[in-house]
Amino acid sequence: MKRICVLGTGYVGLVTGTCFADLGNQVVCVDINEEKIAKLKQGIMPIYEPGLEEMVKRNAQAERLKFTTSYPEGVAEAEFVFIAVDTPSGVEGEADLRYVRAAATSLAEVMDHPLIIVNKSTVPIGTGDYVADVVRRHLNHQVPFSVVSNPEFLREGSAVHDFLNPDRVVLGSEDREAAEAVAQLYLPLRAPIIITDLRTAEMIKYASNAFLATRISFINEIATMCEALGADIKEVAIGMGYDKRIGHAYLDAGIGWGGSCFPKDVKALEYMASIHGCHPQLLRAVMDINRDQRRHVVQKLRTLLGSLNEKVIAVLGLSFKPNTDDMRNSPAVEIIHLLQNEGAIIKAYDPVAMENARRILDDVTLCGDAYQAAEGADALVIATEWNEFKQLDLPHLKEVMRQPIVVDGRNIYEPEVMRKLGFTYRGMGRGY
Ligand code: NAD
Repeated sequence: MKRICVLGTGYVGLVTGTCFADLGNQVVCVDINEEKIAKLKQGIMPIYEPGLEEMVKRNAQAERLKFTTSYPEGVAEAEFVFIAVDTPSGVEGEADLRYVRAAATSLAEVMDHPLIIVNKSTVPIGTGDYVADVVRRHLNHQVPFSVVSNPEFLREGSAVHDFLNPDRVVLGSEDREAAEAVAQLYLPLRAPIIITDLRTAEMIKYASNAFLATRISFINEIATMCEALGADIKEVAIGMGYDKRIGHAYLDAGIGWGGSCFPKDVKALEYMASIHGCHPQLLRAVMDINRDQRRHVVQKLRTLLGSLNEKVIAVLGLSFKPNTDDMRNSPAVEIIHLLQNEGAIIKAYDPVAMENARRILDDVTLCGDAYQAAEGADALVIATEWNEFKQLDLPHLKEVMRQPIVVDGRNIYEPEVMRKLGFTYRGMGRGY
């Protein structure tokens, strides 16, 4: 049993803290958001994540997991302090480190015993050293500490599973002993553990996300070619994926990647590279292709409907991917804005992101289910591949729509089947 404090109780911090508690450690999660902490103390989850609520409740009841807004309370007994605060995009695309700086400062001010600071937030290369500097400058008690980088690779929607079943654990530090101490926390997971230096660990995270985004943009570029040349991207991807050197993952063509990580991390890496004299042309193309995928949806609708002014468009799915309520950089939201700019009237539905949608979206009629959204619509766009959209009652859907036009941004239906049912159907990269 180790004593762990986690700073930042969002998607990563809450999952990290809860899973470490479930592994038998004593965990205190600290957040500056009082509302979030008050809710968590009552067992109310601030986010939707499969399996999380039950695990939080079980560990809170066993008194292994506590929530507080107080740094002194969180840090008092900790041997390890994880930083898991947000690192959003700044104006130039750089990672904004204000929350990391604030967390490191508040931590330093209350540290009165030696501990290991573990950075889990995705941060620019060199931030480990920066955190060490910030802490050193703000210490009130001259106590020794080490900084370890431990980037997180979990995916929203399967975060608990991913945390407990990682493909690898990456640790970077100039203090090998500290990295090995952090490695001990992960031993029960039986995952490969890579110990390297701070900067290399930080780069592994950016390089991994940039590579995954590149795969998706690559397949989307091929999808656009398929559409022009009469091939079917779904079968192309399957045919490619069986090649062991390629594999099947991250080869789904569609409206592109979004969410709280890929957009900001690819931008941040591009920014980092540029200001250090590199020419990250591939990353720029990866972002351009992704942006164009949203535009392709609007173009398809314009080709089918003519002017979009006053056309009613139903959008199914608002979260950036299924099994999460996270709408940060959601392709659905970007497409809705593009359609609204052309005068379209938007009706929308998402299985779990409606509360967030109410806060984020203006002038959108939020509906109780897919059929309500489709009622009277001139076209329907599938923006998120939630399971419940995969088996819609298609004849009923067609009946309630004003025009049976479907743009399937996630390729969940088969063009042939949809055409036979009388829909005018467009997928992404399905050119036959
Ligand atoms: P989030 O926005 O969901 O949560 C961040 C939390 O930190 C918020 O609750 C916020 O109130 C809190 N916070 C901000 N400043 C604080 C401070 N000074 N002290 C204490 N708490 C503070 O963010 P997230 O999605 O969990 O991401 C956190 C980091 O992990 C980011 O760097 C992100 O890039 C990285 N990451 C995210 C994911 C993901 O899927 N969300 C996956 C891997 C890595």
